[in-house]
Amino acid sequence: MASSSLYRGRFAPSPTGPLHAGSLVAALASWLDARAHGGIWLVRLEDVDTPRCVPGASEHILQQLASCGLVSDGPVLWQSQRGAHYQQALDQLIANGHAYPCGCSRKDIETVLQSQGLSRERHQTAVYPGTCRPERGGLQGKPAHAWRFALDPASTDVRWIDRRLGPQTQNVATAVGDFVLKRADGLWAYQLAVVVDDAAQGITHVVRGEDLADNTPRQIVLQRALAVPTPAYLHTPLVLGANGEKLSKQNGAQALDLSDPGAALAQAAASLGLPVSARSLPEALALWAQAWPYHHVATRP
Ligand code: GLU
Repeated sequence: MASSSLYRGRFAPSPTGPLHAGSLVAALASWLDARAHGGIWLVRLEDVDTPRCVPGASEHILQQLASCGLVSDGPVLWQSQRGAHYQQALDQLIANGHAYPCGCSRKDIETVLQSQGLSRERHQTAVYPGTCRPERGGLQGKPAHAWRFALDPASTDVRWIDRRLGPQTQNVATAVGDFVLKRADGLWAYQLAVVVDDAAQGITHVVRGEDLADNTPRQIVLQRALAVPTPAYLHTPLVLGANGEKLSKQNGAQALDLSDPGAALAQAAASLGLPVSARSLPEALALWAQAWPYHHVATRP
């Protein structure tokens, strides 16, 4: 997928349902930013978490995007067809001492955390206490459930500059711990798949919703371990529902009403701080180029 463009962006929806108003904002922002830079915009369907994928949702999403005029500049990439590439990356991480097998169940992890008097919870997922790290004895006879990334405890304070949110920092070890690369059920974890595919597609700029911002440091440590480039990141404002919570398929956001695509685009453009009159892509693009307040922020950490 070679290209002479210096900018390669992408929109990477998970087909767990149709697009909702919040996902159109991320799609539109990634498209506008790619076009404003004279770049390429690619669509990638993140259908690795098969139990959560809804049959037909991928095709529906592509139709919804097309009815707004958003069409991938290259072949659509389907993560469900990329297992061999994820395995290759995992093998590379294992060979370099960056990944280890883990035999802990969720209950094992909770028991260890409780015995340490810790209730380190983050988004309901316990911070992994490192029980199966090789230097602590590894699996110790337990069958392997999952593969985890072995964070280097000496260098896990990750700093990066988000084009909208500004300088960011996260200590991945204390925030999430050794995170999962391949799940106990054999499915590939989002973190590994997204890093492998951003690299494979030559993505230079990631534009996505702010709810994903705290995944960025995990992706940066993985990029470093796999010796692939770190793209520039821009996390867009979240769309909140009437209850003040972020719109998501999980909390029952309605599928987009695309009977009037111009109105849906205008609403998405308004969420990005562009004037509500942006009813068409050319109009939104002109406004993005003029009014988007974060263009001047350095795009590299
Ligand atoms: N597939 C993810 C989602 O739909 C987005 C991944 C990304 O943009 O990095 O939430």
